[in-house]
Amino acid sequence: MLNRRKFLEKLSAAGVLTLLPEVVKSVPVPAGITDDNIAAPAVISTWSHGIPANKKAMEVMQMGGSVVDAVEQAVMIPEADPMNRSVGLGGTPDRDGHVTLDASIMGPDGNAGSVCFLEHIIHPISVARLVMEKTPHVMLAGEGALQFALENGFEEQNLLTPETEKAWKEWLKESDYNPEVNWEDKPNEFHDTIGLLAMDKNGDMAGACTTSGLGYKIRGRVGDSPIIGAGLFVDNEIGGATATGMGELVMKTLGSFLVVELMRQGRSPQQACKEAVERIVQKVPENKIRQVGFIAMNKRGETGAFCLQPGFNYAVHQKGENKMIDSRSYY
Ligand code: ASP
Repeated sequence: MLNRRKFLEKLSAAGVLTLLPEVVKSVPVPAGITDDNIAAPAVISTWSHGIPANKKAMEVMQMGGSVVDAVEQAVMIPEADPMNRSVGLGGTPDRDGHVTLDASIMGPDGNAGSVCFLEHIIHPISVARLVMEKTPHVMLAGEGALQFALENGFEEQNLLTPETEKAWKEWLKESDYNPEVNWEDKPNEFHDTIGLLAMDKNGDMAGACTTSGLGYKIRGRVGDSPIIGAGLFVDNEIGGATATGMGELVMKTLGSFLVVELMRQGRSPQQACKEAVERIVQKVPENKIRQVGFIAMNKRGETGAFCLQPGFNYAVHQKGENKMIDSRSYY
Protein backbone atom coordinates (compact mmCIF):
# COMPACT_ATOMS: atom_id res chain seq x y z
CA MET A 1 0.00 0.00 0.00
CA LEU A 2 1.27 3.53 -0.73
CA ASN A 3 2.01 5.62 2.32
CA ARG A 4 1.23 9.35 2.18
CA ARG A 5 4.85 10.43 1.47
CA LYS A 6 5.26 7.92 -1.37
CA PHE A 7 1.90 8.93 -2.75
CA LEU A 8 2.93 12.61 -2.79
CA GLU A 9 6.27 11.71 -4.38
CA LYS A 10 4.43 9.83 -7.11
CA LEU A 11 2.09 12.77 -7.71
CA SER A 12 5.04 15.11 -7.82
CA ALA A 13 6.88 12.90 -10.31
CA ALA A 14 3.77 12.86 -12.46
CA GLY A 15 3.65 16.66 -12.38
CA VAL A 16 0.28 16.57 -10.66
CA LEU A 17 1.35 18.64 -7.65
CA THR A 18 1.98 21.68 -9.82
CA LEU A 19 -1.76 21.68 -10.42
CA LEU A 20 -2.68 21.53 -6.77
CA PRO A 21 -2.05 25.15 -5.68
CA GLU A 22 -4.67 26.24 -8.21
CA VAL A 23 -7.22 23.95 -6.56
CA VAL A 24 -6.17 24.78 -3.00
CA LYS A 25 -6.42 28.50 -3.72
CA SER A 26 -10.09 28.07 -4.67
CA VAL A 27 -12.19 29.23 -1.77
CA PRO A 28 -15.90 28.51 -1.73
CA VAL A 29 -18.15 31.54 -1.88
CA PRO A 30 -19.01 32.18 1.75
CA ALA A 31 -22.57 31.47 2.80
CA GLY A 32 -22.71 34.53 5.04
CA ILE A 33 -22.92 37.53 2.75
CA THR A 34 -22.90 41.05 4.09
CA ASP A 35 -24.92 43.90 2.64
CA ASP A 36 -21.92 45.75 1.28
CA ASN A 37 -20.57 43.01 -1.00
CA ILE A 38 -23.78 41.69 -2.47
CA ALA A 39 -25.24 42.98 -5.75
CA ALA A 40 -28.84 42.10 -4.90
CA PRO A 41 -31.56 41.99 -5.95
CA ALA A 42 -30.53 40.54 -9.27
CA VAL A 43 -32.13 38.52 -12.08
CA ILE A 44 -30.52 36.73 -15.03
CA SER A 45 -32.28 34.82 -17.79
CA THR A 46 -31.75 33.26 -21.20
CA TRP A 47 -32.42 34.95 -24.56
CA SER A 48 -34.24 38.20 -25.28
CA HIS A 49 -37.55 37.02 -23.81
CA GLY A 50 -35.55 37.42 -20.59
CA ILE A 51 -35.93 41.21 -20.65
CA PRO A 52 -39.67 41.36 -19.83
CA ALA A 53 -39.32 38.31 -17.58
CA ASN A 54 -36.50 39.93 -15.58
CA LYS A 55 -38.56 43.10 -15.24
CA LYS A 56 -41.47 41.09 -13.87
CA ALA A 57 -39.26 39.25 -11.38
CA MET A 58 -37.90 42.55 -10.07
CA GLU A 59 -41.38 44.03 -9.75
CA VAL A 60 -42.63 41.00 -7.83
CA MET A 61 -39.73 41.22 -5.39
CA GLN A 62 -40.13 44.99 -5.02
CA MET A 63 -43.82 44.47 -4.21
CA GLY A 64 -42.81 42.13 -1.40
CA GLY A 65 -43.32 38.83 -3.22
CA SER A 66 -41.01 35.93 -2.45
CA VAL A 67 -38.14 35.01 -4.71
CA VAL A 68 -40.09 31.89 -5.72
CA ASP A 69 -43.09 34.06 -6.66
CA ALA A 70 -40.68 36.19 -8.67
CA VAL A 71 -39.19 33.40 -10.78
CA GLU A 72 -42.58 31.77 -11.36
CA GLN A 73 -44.38 34.94 -12.42
CA ALA A 74 -41.42 36.02 -14.55
CA VAL A 75 -41.40 32.94 -16.77
CA MET A 76 -45.20 32.95 -17.01
CA ILE A 77 -44.79 35.90 -19.39
CA PRO A 78 -43.14 33.94 -22.24
CA GLU A 79 -45.35 30.94 -21.39
CA ALA A 80 -48.45 33.06 -22.13
CA ASP A 81 -47.01 34.74 -25.23
CA PRO A 82 -48.46 33.07 -28.37
CA MET A 83 -45.70 34.61 -30.49
CA ASN A 84 -43.00 32.83 -28.52
CA ARG A 85 -42.38 29.59 -30.43
CA SER A 86 -40.41 27.80 -27.75
CA VAL A 87 -42.34 28.17 -24.50
CA GLY A 88 -45.94 27.45 -23.43
CA LEU A 89 -48.75 28.73 -25.68
CA GLY A 90 -47.59 28.81 -29.30
CA GLY A 91 -44.66 26.52 -28.55
CA THR A 92 -43.48 24.46 -31.52
CA PRO A 93 -45.16 21.03 -31.43
CA ASP A 94 -43.61 17.60 -31.68
CA ARG A 95 -43.57 15.85 -35.07
CA ASP A 96 -47.13 14.60 -34.50
CA GLY A 97 -48.46 18.11 -33.88
CA HIS A 98 -48.72 17.98 -30.07
CA VAL A 99 -47.31 20.78 -27.90
CA THR A 100 -45.63 19.04 -24.95
CA LEU A 101 -44.09 21.12 -22.18
CA ASP A 102 -41.27 20.69 -19.66
CA ALA A 103 -40.66 22.96 -16.65
CA SER A 104 -38.80 23.04 -13.35
CA ILE A 105 -38.47 25.29 -10.34
CA MET A 106 -36.20 25.41 -7.29
CA GLY A 107 -36.43 27.53 -4.16
CA PRO A 108 -33.94 28.80 -1.60
CA ASP A 109 -34.85 25.98 0.79
CA GLY A 110 -33.46 23.42 -1.69
CA ASN A 111 -36.92 22.25 -2.60
CA ALA A 112 -37.59 21.41 -6.24
CA GLY A 113 -40.51 20.56 -8.50
CA SER A 114 -40.93 19.75 -12.15
CA VAL A 115 -43.25 18.50 -14.84
CA CYS A 116 -42.41 16.92 -18.15
CA PHE A 117 -44.29 15.85 -21.27
CA LEU A 118 -47.24 17.92 -20.03
CA GLU A 119 -49.91 18.86 -22.56
CA HIS A 120 -52.75 21.43 -22.70
CA ILE A 121 -51.64 23.54 -19.71
CA ILE A 122 -50.40 27.02 -20.51
CA HIS A 123 -48.37 27.46 -17.31
CA PRO A 124 -46.33 24.31 -16.65
CA ILE A 125 -44.13 26.31 -14.27
CA SER A 126 -47.08 26.77 -11.90
CA VAL A 127 -47.80 23.04 -11.98
CA ALA A 128 -44.11 22.41 -11.23
CA ARG A 129 -44.35 24.79 -8.27
CA LEU A 130 -47.39 22.92 -7.00
CA VAL A 131 -45.54 19.61 -7.29
CA MET A 132 -42.74 21.21 -5.26
CA GLU A 133 -44.93 22.67 -2.55
CA LYS A 134 -47.88 20.30 -2.29
CA THR A 135 -46.50 16.83 -2.91
CA PRO A 136 -43.69 14.70 -1.48
CA HIS A 137 -42.37 14.29 -5.05
CA VAL A 138 -40.13 16.20 -7.43
CA MET A 139 -41.39 15.31 -10.88
CA LEU A 140 -44.67 14.39 -12.53
CA ALA A 141 -44.89 13.32 -16.16
CA GLY A 142 -47.39 13.24 -19.01
CA GLU A 143 -50.93 12.16 -18.25
CA GLY A 144 -50.27 12.03 -14.51
CA ALA A 145 -48.99 15.60 -14.52
CA LEU A 146 -52.05 16.69 -16.50
CA GLN A 147 -54.39 14.89 -14.11
CA PHE A 148 -52.65 16.54 -11.14
CA ALA A 149 -52.95 19.96 -12.79
CA LEU A 150 -56.67 19.51 -13.54
CA GLU A 151 -57.36 18.28 -10.01
CA ASN A 152 -55.73 21.46 -8.75
CA GLY A 153 -57.83 23.86 -10.78
CA PHE A 154 -55.74 24.34 -13.92
CA GLU A 155 -57.70 24.48 -17.15
CA GLU A 156 -57.00 22.63 -20.37
CA GLN A 157 -56.50 24.64 -23.51
CA ASN A 158 -55.25 24.15 -27.03
CA LEU A 159 -51.64 25.36 -27.11
CA LEU A 160 -51.20 24.88 -30.87
CA THR A 161 -51.81 28.27 -32.49
CA PRO A 162 -52.82 28.70 -36.16
CA GLU A 163 -49.26 29.95 -36.84
CA THR A 164 -47.50 26.99 -35.22
CA GLU A 165 -49.91 24.57 -36.87
CA LYS A 166 -49.15 26.10 -40.25
CA ALA A 167 -45.40 25.94 -39.65
CA TRP A 168 -45.69 22.30 -38.51
CA LYS A 169 -47.65 21.35 -41.66
CA GLU A 170 -44.97 23.04 -43.72
CA TRP A 171 -42.27 21.10 -41.82
CA LEU A 172 -44.16 17.83 -42.41
CA LYS A 173 -43.61 18.13 -46.16
CA GLU A 174 -39.93 17.30 -45.71
CA SER A 175 -39.98 16.12 -42.11
CA ASP A 176 -36.32 16.95 -41.90
CA TYR A 177 -35.30 16.45 -38.29
CA ASN A 178 -31.73 17.36 -37.56
CA PRO A 179 -31.87 19.90 -34.78
CA GLU A 180 -29.53 22.82 -35.13
CA VAL A 181 -27.23 21.40 -37.76
CA ASN A 182 -27.70 24.64 -39.66
CA TRP A 183 -26.68 26.52 -36.57
CA GLU A 184 -25.06 29.38 -38.41
CA ASP A 185 -27.92 29.86 -40.87
CA LYS A 186 -30.78 29.38 -38.46
CA PRO A 187 -29.46 30.01 -34.98
CA ASN A 188 -32.65 29.73 -32.95
CA GLU A 189 -34.99 27.82 -35.19
CA PHE A 190 -35.45 24.76 -33.03
CA HIS A 191 -35.20 26.01 -29.46
CA ASP A 192 -35.18 28.90 -26.97
CA THR A 193 -36.01 27.82 -23.45
CA ILE A 194 -36.34 30.45 -20.78
CA GLY A 195 -34.18 29.70 -17.75
CA LEU A 196 -34.20 32.40 -15.08
CA LEU A 197 -32.38 32.87 -11.77
CA ALA A 198 -33.26 35.51 -9.20
CA MET A 199 -31.78 36.70 -5.93
CA ASP A 200 -33.80 38.85 -3.54
CA LYS A 201 -32.43 41.67 -1.40
CA ASN A 202 -31.60 39.22 1.39
CA GLY A 203 -29.46 37.14 -0.96
CA ASP A 204 -31.91 34.24 -1.23
CA MET A 205 -32.05 32.56 -4.61
CA ALA A 206 -34.56 30.67 -6.74
CA GLY A 207 -34.69 29.50 -10.35
CA ALA A 208 -37.22 28.50 -12.99
CA CYS A 209 -36.94 26.91 -16.41
CA THR A 210 -39.74 26.29 -18.92
CA THR A 211 -39.90 25.17 -22.53
CA SER A 212 -41.79 23.41 -25.27
CA GLY A 213 -38.49 21.66 -25.98
CA LEU A 214 -36.99 20.93 -29.34
CA GLY A 215 -39.29 21.67 -32.24
CA TYR A 216 -40.63 18.59 -34.07
CA LYS A 217 -39.06 16.26 -31.52
CA ILE A 218 -40.05 12.58 -31.39
CA ARG A 219 -43.27 12.24 -29.41
CA GLY A 220 -42.44 11.54 -25.79
CA ARG A 221 -39.01 13.16 -25.90
CA VAL A 222 -38.16 15.05 -22.71
CA GLY A 223 -35.23 17.46 -22.56
CA ASP A 224 -32.97 18.85 -19.87
CA SER A 225 -35.26 21.64 -18.66
CA PRO A 226 -37.35 19.61 -16.18
CA ILE A 227 -34.40 17.53 -14.96
CA ILE A 228 -33.14 18.99 -11.69
CA GLY A 229 -29.38 19.38 -12.03
CA ALA A 230 -29.46 19.35 -15.84
CA GLY A 231 -31.60 22.28 -17.00
CA LEU A 232 -31.71 23.99 -13.61
CA PHE A 233 -29.97 23.86 -10.27
CA VAL A 234 -29.99 26.23 -7.29
CA ASP A 235 -28.06 25.81 -4.07
CA ASN A 236 -28.85 28.77 -1.84
CA GLU A 237 -25.42 28.56 -0.20
CA ILE A 238 -23.56 28.82 -3.49
CA GLY A 239 -25.64 30.06 -6.42
CA GLY A 240 -27.66 28.81 -9.35
CA ALA A 241 -27.34 27.82 -13.00
CA THR A 242 -29.69 27.07 -15.87
CA ALA A 243 -29.29 25.88 -19.45
CA THR A 244 -30.69 26.26 -22.92
CA GLY A 245 -29.95 24.54 -26.21
CA MET A 246 -29.77 20.89 -27.13
CA GLY A 247 -30.89 19.29 -23.88
CA GLU A 248 -29.30 15.93 -24.61
CA LEU A 249 -25.81 17.42 -24.27
CA VAL A 250 -26.77 19.07 -20.97
CA MET A 251 -28.31 15.84 -19.63
CA LYS A 252 -25.24 13.77 -20.51
CA THR A 253 -23.09 16.09 -18.38
CA LEU A 254 -25.63 17.17 -15.73
CA GLY A 255 -24.65 20.70 -16.73
CA SER A 256 -26.38 23.04 -14.26
CA PHE A 257 -25.36 20.94 -11.26
CA LEU A 258 -21.81 20.93 -12.61
CA VAL A 259 -21.79 24.73 -12.90
CA VAL A 260 -22.97 25.11 -9.29
CA GLU A 261 -20.42 22.57 -8.05
CA LEU A 262 -17.65 24.43 -9.88
CA MET A 263 -18.78 27.66 -8.19
CA ARG A 264 -18.69 25.77 -4.89
CA GLN A 265 -15.03 25.06 -5.62
CA GLY A 266 -14.41 28.78 -6.08
CA ARG A 267 -14.93 29.36 -9.81
CA SER A 268 -16.67 32.56 -10.85
CA PRO A 269 -20.05 32.08 -12.58
CA GLN A 270 -18.37 32.88 -15.90
CA GLN A 271 -15.53 30.40 -15.40
CA ALA A 272 -17.92 27.71 -14.14
CA CYS A 273 -20.14 28.06 -17.24
CA LYS A 274 -17.06 27.91 -19.47
CA GLU A 275 -15.81 24.72 -17.82
CA ALA A 276 -19.23 23.09 -18.10
CA VAL A 277 -19.21 23.85 -21.85
CA GLU A 278 -15.66 22.45 -22.08
CA ARG A 279 -16.90 19.28 -20.38
CA ILE A 280 -19.47 18.90 -23.16
CA VAL A 281 -16.74 19.41 -25.74
CA GLN A 282 -14.64 16.70 -24.07
CA LYS A 283 -17.43 14.20 -23.54
CA VAL A 284 -20.14 14.61 -26.17
CA PRO A 285 -18.97 14.11 -29.77
CA GLU A 286 -21.83 16.01 -31.39
CA ASN A 287 -20.77 19.24 -29.63
CA LYS A 288 -19.54 20.73 -32.92
CA ILE A 289 -22.97 20.78 -34.51
CA ARG A 290 -25.16 21.57 -31.51
CA GLN A 291 -25.77 24.58 -29.31
CA VAL A 292 -25.79 24.74 -25.51
CA GLY A 293 -25.74 27.88 -23.37
CA PHE A 294 -25.40 28.17 -19.60
CA ILE A 295 -26.07 31.17 -17.37
CA ALA A 296 -25.16 31.36 -13.68
CA MET A 297 -25.26 33.64 -10.66
CA ASN A 298 -23.45 33.25 -7.36
CA LYS A 299 -24.33 34.43 -3.87
CA ARG A 300 -22.56 37.73 -4.40
CA GLY A 301 -24.88 38.48 -7.30
CA GLU A 302 -22.06 38.00 -9.80
CA THR A 303 -23.29 36.61 -13.11
CA GLY A 304 -21.78 34.83 -16.08
CA ALA A 305 -22.55 32.73 -19.13
CA PHE A 306 -20.91 30.61 -21.78
CA CYS A 307 -22.08 28.69 -24.84
CA LEU A 308 -20.84 26.29 -27.49
CA GLN A 309 -21.66 28.23 -30.66
CA PRO A 310 -21.82 31.99 -31.17
CA GLY A 311 -25.32 33.43 -31.06
CA PHE A 312 -26.52 32.89 -27.51
CA ASN A 313 -27.43 35.94 -25.47
CA TYR A 314 -28.95 36.57 -22.06
CA ALA A 315 -30.57 39.29 -19.99
CA VAL A 316 -29.25 40.65 -16.68
CA HIS A 317 -31.28 42.95 -14.43
CA GLN A 318 -29.15 44.46 -11.71
CA LYS A 319 -28.41 47.86 -10.17
CA GLY A 320 -31.34 49.48 -11.96
CA GLU A 321 -30.39 48.26 -15.43
CA ASN A 322 -32.00 45.46 -17.49
CA LYS A 323 -29.81 44.63 -20.47
CA MET A 324 -28.91 41.99 -23.04
CA ILE A 325 -25.39 40.57 -23.09
CA ASP A 326 -23.84 38.45 -25.86
CA SER A 327 -22.39 35.27 -24.41
CA ARG A 328 -18.86 34.23 -25.17
CA SER A 329 -18.66 30.92 -26.99
CA TYR A 330 -16.31 27.94 -27.27
CA TYR A 331 -16.34 27.94 -31.09
N1 ASP B 1 -33.11 22.80 -23.67
C1 ASP B 1 -34.34 22.63 -24.36
C2 ASP B 1 -34.56 21.18 -24.63
O1 ASP B 1 -33.61 20.47 -24.93
C3 ASP B 1 -34.39 23.34 -25.65
C4 ASP B 1 -34.25 24.82 -25.55
O2 ASP B 1 -33.33 25.35 -24.97
O3 ASP B 1 -35.11 25.48 -26.10
O4 ASP B 1 -35.68 20.76 -24.60
